[in-house]
Amino acid sequence: MRRFEGERLVVATHNKGKLEEIRALFQGRALTIVSAGELGLPEPAETETTFVGNARIKAHAAARASGEVALADDSGLCVDALGGAPGVYSADWAETPEGRDFGMAMAKVCRMLDEAGAEAARTARFVSVLVLAWPDGHDEVFQGSIDGRIVCPGRGENGHGYDPIFLPDGHDLTFGEMDRWEKNRLSHRGRAFGALMSCFT
Ligand code: IMP
Repeated sequence: MRRFEGERLVVATHNKGKLEEIRALFQGRALTIVSAGELGLPEPAETETTFVGNARIKAHAAARASGEVALADDSGLCVDALGGAPGVYSADWAETPEGRDFGMAMAKVCRMLDEAGAEAARTARFVSVLVLAWPDGHDEVFQGSIDGRIVCPGRGENGHGYDPIFLPDGHDLTFGEMDRWEKNRLSHRGRAFGALMSCFT
């Protein structure tokens, strides 16, 4: 496994919620984090149908454009009764002409579950794939997931995206009700980060 030995890491995201979580996960390390958004790098089209494929697109695009090592997260919510949807299309379900609306996206998940019937399984998982890419084309891939269930209506105002409707197994608070530290300790992204740390020791 190739180690990261630099002092600055480009995080290939334009999503502020994700960036904040990633900054918190790296807290305490002598590392400067700069995002693709802050560098004004273009956002590549996510044309793959898997989390790994899209994370690779984002990480390599940022590494090539910046000439520095770049980290990308591709993640999403997979609901069993919806055949794994929204999955890699989690962000797309929130798109509106005025920007992303996750209230709308969560309402769509709840509506589709209602339509699927009372007996439909509300089990779901969040998945995160992290890709660390070097400008020479090398990469390292890490994954994490967390199982839970969908609660409608959502609860809590913390976090981002679909956090209010996700209740992790074994907990009474949704991700939207947890503080960032508690969420990061058990989340899909937190778990993928645990594995990624082997590149940073
Ligand atoms: P992408 O990885 O940038 O394509 O988008 C991932 C999308 O999945 C986000 O915009 C959110 O909608 C959703 N998502 C991923 N991780 C989380 C999370 O930790 N909480 C809530 N929503 C998430």
